[in-house]
Order: sequence, then C-alpha cells, then structure tokens
Amino acid sequence: SKKPVRVAVTGAAGQIGYALLFRIASGEMLGKDQPVILQLLEVPAEGPQKALKGVMMELEDCAFPLLAGMEAHGDPMTAFKDTDYALLVGSMPRKQGMERAELLSINGKIFIGQGKALDAVASRNVKVLVVGNPANTNAYIAMKSAPSLPRENFTAMLRLDHNRALSQVAAKTGTKVGEIEKLTVWGNHSPTMYADYRFATVNGKSVKDMINDQEWNANVFLPTVGKRGAAIIEARGLSSAASAANAAIDHMRDWVLGSSGKWVTMGVPSNGEYGIPKDVMFGFPVTTQGGKYEIVKGLEIDAFSQERINKTLKELQDEQAGVAHLL
Ligand code: NDP
Repeated sequence: SKKPVRVAVTGAAGQIGYALLFRIASGEMLGKDQPVILQLLEVPAEGPQKALKGVMMELEDCAFPLLAGMEAHGDPMTAFKDTDYALLVGSMPRKQGMERAELLSINGKIFIGQGKALDAVASRNVKVLVVGNPANTNAYIAMKSAPSLPRENFTAMLRLDHNRALSQVAAKTGTKVGEIEKLTVWGNHSPTMYADYRFATVNGKSVKDMINDQEWNANVFLPTVGKRGAAIIEARGLSSAASAANAAIDHMRDWVLGSSGKWVTMGVPSNGEYGIPKDVMFGFPVTTQGGKYEIVKGLEIDAFSQERINKTLKELQDEQAGVAHLL
C-alpha cells in the first residue's frame, strides 16, 4: 500500500475545517488508496485547542482506514513539518466596522508567518491552497514569504465561485452540471470575480448560444454568483462552510490527481498571461495533469470581459499595495 502523505490544515477547529477534515480522512481528496497524516493547526489559545481536541475525537470515532496519524499544533513551525499539502483555512474574519486595510494587515501578519514556516520546514514540493479570506492576497503573501519554495505551488481557492457558476448555468440552460465544460472564473475570490461561460459547452453545444441573453449575464448571473456568499449568510445565519470545504477538496483533488483534460479554475500566480502582471494571484482556467496545472492560453477576451477582468485585477492590485509595507 502507499506511503502516508502529510496534510496540514489551519483553522482546523473552524466551520470549514469541520466540513473538510472528515472528507480528507475518508480519501475523497487524495484518493481512496492514499493514507494521510493530518497535521492540524489552531491558534494556541485554550478554547480553540480544546475544540480541536473534540474534532480529533470525532475523527478517531470514524475509524477511517486511511487516517494514518493525527497531530494537534499551535505553531506553524511544527504543524507544517515535512507537510506535502497545506490547506490554509484559518484567517481572521472581518468584524463589523473593521476597515479592509485593518483586515489585510492582521491577515498579512498571519500569512507571512505561515509562508515563512512553510519555507523553513515543509516538503520542498508542498502544494498550498489558501481558503482563508482575502484568499488571493493571503496566498500572494505566503508565496512571497517562502522564497525557497516553487512559486507555482501557492494557489488560492476560486473553485467555489466556479462551482457556483456551474450550478447557475445548469439551472438556466436546463442541463446537468456534470455535462458543462470549459467554464471559468477570472480574478479575485470576491464579488468582483468574473465568471465566464463564453467558451462553455454542453455536449458540444455552446452555452452562450443556448442562453443568448447578455442582460441576464450582466445583471442576474454575475451578481448572483458574486453575492452568493452574502446570500447564504443571510439565509443560514452563518457563512457557507460545507460548500467551501467541498470546493477545497475539488481544487486539491484535481491538482493532484488531474482533471483529465477538463478546465477547472484555480487562483495561481500569473506569469503574464492575459496581461495580468507577474505574481498577481489570479483566477484562471487551467487544466491539470501529473500534479501540475497549466493555464489555458489563447482565449479571446472581448470588450465586456476585458472590463470585468480589469476591475477584478484592480482590486487585487489595491490589496497587494495594501500589504506591500509588510513584505
Ligand atoms: P470558517 O471556517 O467559516 O472560515 C475560515 C476562513 O475561510 C475565513 O477567512 C473565511 O472568510 C474563509 N472563506 C473562504 N471562502 C469561504 C466561504 N465560501 N464561506 C465561508 N468562509 C469562507 O471560519 P471559523 O471562524 O469557523 O473558523 C476559523 C478558524 O480559524 C477558527 O477556529 C480560528 O481559531 C482559526 N484561525 C486559525 C489561525 C491559525 O491557524 N493560525 C489564524 C486565524 C484563525 P470570511 O471571513 O469571508 O468568512
């Protein structure tokens, strides 16, 4: 049987963590033949550490055959030791009345520390997914703080936006989500993201032609996908957690096991594709194979799309400027 791999998860006692860990341990992320050792990080305070112990008790009680080990940590320098995968979920939520700059700077410090710790102790091939918001900028900070690791191994989660867009398009066209190919989301994981179905097909037919309604695209579809997180908070009284965890599983699974030629969306550092400046952590259409992703190139960007891409890029560049003094 396979040698166990190490999977670090931060914010492990949080809502998303609770929806995520059991699926990792059951083999849904890395395969039903891949044993895992969970290296769980929580803030060192007594409350969160105690809650983490409770989650670990439940993991024990699942008796997952693939769960080869489990550790609780309060320090990223030990949590990330030799880790092969790191899912950075924990971050400081925005409190009411908090300025964006303040949020950026608090989280900036967390992700500098975590980037440095990954740089110092993680596997040299560690694959990193940042879920904690502002996810793209946090991933950018961690990447910049880990100069000895390959920059392409730092990614941000756009997959939830991608999955939300798939669902909306399927409902609009009366098709099944599994039949839709070549959909993508450009930019920041925020309401400025640009979900783009211009290239999407269902059994070879153009989704854009099936919908044929630019009004719906601009005034219904994009706002629905962009504000979905807020709509869920409004309905549930809590932020989305299971769907975020599910998207994290999808992102890592496709990165590691391959997308079989299909497009998926990942937030990855740009190499200059589509005019996005180098290193901006941007949602792109990618295909994945053999543990590597490749940005889909040569897509035509029309005037409407360019405007949307410029807007989400500007937001990301403003966030980057807001943390530049920390790096
Ligand atoms: P959640 O588990 O609900 O969310 C964790 C992070 O994921 C938040 O930043 C949240 O952003 C983000 N996120 C990204 N996409 C989504 C989405 N679609 N829906 C909801 N959230 C999304 O938060 P909890 O407060 O339940 O748990 C966070 C845990 O992290 C706590 O246990 C805390 O102690 C821990 N923590 C750990 C740190 C560490 O390990 N060093 C540092 C800071 C916190 P948003 O703000 O937009 O909801």
